[in-house]
Amino acid sequence: MKLSDSLRYVKGVGPKIFNILKDYGFLTLKDLLFYFPFRYDDFSKLVNIKDLKIGQTCTIYGKLKNVRQFKIGRRRLIITQGIITDKTASIKIIWFGQRHPIVFKDKEIYVAGKLVKDKFGLYFLPFEVETNNQKNIHLARTVPVYRKIGKINSKQIRKIIFNIIQSIDIKELKDPIPEFILNKFGFKKIDEAILKVHFPENLLEALESRKRFVFEDLLIFQLKILKERKMLLEKKAPQIEIYEEEVEKILNFELTEEQKRVWNEIKEDLKSQKPSNRLLQGDVGSGKTVLAKMAIFNVVLNNYQAVLMAPTEILARQHFFDFLEFFAKKNINLGFVSSKECFFGQGGHFIKISKEKIKNHIFQGKIDIIIGTHSLLGEKIIFQKVGIVVIDEQQRFGVEQRAKLIEKSKSELIPHFISMTATPIPRTLALVFYGDLDISTIRERPFPFLVKIFIVSEKKREKVYEFLKKKIKKGSQLVIICPRVEEKNDEIKNVKTEYQKIKKYFSEFKIGMLYAKMKVKEKDEILKMMEKNEIKVLVTSSVIEVGLNLKNLNLMIIENAERFGLTQLYQMIGRLSRYGLESYAFLFLNKFTKKGYIRLKALKEKRNALELAEIDLKLRGPGEFFGKEQSGIPDLVVEGLKDLDLIEKAKKAAEIIISVDSSFKSFPLLSLLYTQKGKILFG
Ligand code: ADP
Ligand code: MG
Repeated sequence: MKLSDSLRYVKGVGPKIFNILKDYGFLTLKDLLFYFPFRYDDFSKLVNIKDLKIGQTCTIYGKLKNVRQFKIGRRRLIITQGIITDKTASIKIIWFGQRHPIVFKDKEIYVAGKLVKDKFGLYFLPFEVETNNQKNIHLARTVPVYRKIGKINSKQIRKIIFNIIQSIDIKELKDPIPEFILNKFGFKKIDEAILKVHFPENLLEALESRKRFVFEDLLIFQLKILKERKMLLEKKAPQIEIYEEEVEKILNFELTEEQKRVWNEIKEDLKSQKPSNRLLQGDVGSGKTVLAKMAIFNVVLNNYQAVLMAPTEILARQHFFDFLEFFAKKNINLGFVSSKECFFGQGGHFIKISKEKIKNHIFQGKIDIIIGTHSLLGEKIIFQKVGIVVIDEQQRFGVEQRAKLIEKSKSELIPHFISMTATPIPRTLALVFYGDLDISTIRERPFPFLVKIFIVSEKKREKVYEFLKKKIKKGSQLVIICPRVEEKNDEIKNVKTEYQKIKKYFSEFKIGMLYAKMKVKEKDEILKMMEKNEIKVLVTSSVIEVGLNLKNLNLMIIENAERFGLTQLYQMIGRLSRYGLESYAFLFLNKFTKKGYIRLKALKEKRNALELAEIDLKLRGPGEFFGKEQSGIPDLVVEGLKDLDLIEKAKKAAEIIISVDSSFKSFPLLSLLYTQKGKILFG
């Protein structure tokens, strides 16, 4: 058979199975051949019964005798029990809840499973059985385990893939990666690798083969990034003259050494004609926004527009009002654009204006600084000439955003880019998405970080509340963060229910509630009352992690802390002590587990955001760094993001390929793959 043949003709695929496969997009033999196992069971060890050890997974081979089936318990569970004997010994074997084992009665069988000891005595617990005239597909080997496809289970899939491999000439599969690259980096060719991914001799071989495919995806990804880089280098950005004295005049404090160092890096970017793409990372309150303001200020002094985008409406508005005040004595025009309302600001004052008007002003170049949410890109805005784009708390690395903004600018020049984040990106991810050169980190905050962190269980709640009450009476403010806004059918705390409880418990204080979907006006009012210290306790969702900037805030409760990533928690806690105030954070582990506790303890021990990010990457995977929504990045790439060595190989390989032929014409299969996968990767 051919790889392009329909699955319909494969042995073991009847009309029913074929329809399911079709529904899931598996049409040809090749489609299913590229459906990879998600793990492997090592049943390769064939063990003599006398040598069985409790708990060890292995395969035994012997004759099954004394088989009887009966039901037990109130739920009438079917039990199949027998004795299996090989040349060395006998052992009891028990199947739970299955009818079929009876067919193996008095047969010689292979059984994969493990020896256990419990209330049924000492016996062998089987996972898989095969008779000795079957080929060993499902046991006595390293067995691939697949995720179900609809109702087709792993065993069925394994069988079908086995049959496919039997019926094709695997050499038909041609490798898109040039052979010299495979050889240089020590990967198997695609035909061999695919066989070993499904039916390896051992686990190591399986993993090595799988790597070949992860490498392929990373390679494509790197080719994309390098090509974009190359294209960018062929374009020009506005050359910005830096007005150092003006900057000094407008700042009413001196930059810290760390801030100065990073400001120098940003200045170099702006002064050069190369379009820059810098990632600016630093803890909450480390002064990222200050540096962004300075960059923006200089860009405006050079008669270019600046764009500042924030992830939420609240944060965008805060930026707008902050900028309004900051530039109050300057002749600089500010615009705020959101889907709900728009402002025009100057000289410390602002007015509400229509979207049409503000768009017109922007188009004519009358607005110097445009502030809005990331949805600015969705609006049909045409900029006059943008010199810089600053993206605040942007998790998705700005590749798309940049492309879109470049399209939108009328000018020939490409703006400089700065992405700010308080969630530092682990080195592996940084390498994939940026070069080392383009990352600036502010390593210290201008004010000391004086937060005492407590990880507490439900039992301590009363005590914690009493403590907080005392503090609030002395003028402190408390924020309570819940993972959910609405009540769902589970134990996880939500803003609305918690708000009601807290209102009762802290009845002597004014309590507020804040969450993303509230009306802008309501949010504004709440925030104002928070600023004036009228509201003492604010119950909110994690929107606060990037938003609030409050002077009296020095108390925090995080509910269900086990549900947040470490970096997320770190950011939330970072809201405290912004101005060096002594603060307290109580992390409630509403589901107290030792593992959860140990993970959170890292917060107390390692106050370094980057280290926490590395832990998150290890424990929770890269998803954390791409935001909640589907990143669109394929599984294999995500898998590869954990593997620094592999990333570096892919990077080198991409450089070599581009230096040989950046059009990929001499690598037609690679070129094809690049076009196909590129679409998946970059939308
Ligand atoms: P980030 O954007 O990293 O969260 P900001 O730039 O908003 O941090 O800075 C946090 C606060 O600290 C702001 O109110 C800012 O004015 C203030 N700040 C920053 N750097 C200094 C400094 N060197 N001296 C005094 N105050 C500073
Ligand atoms: Mg900030």
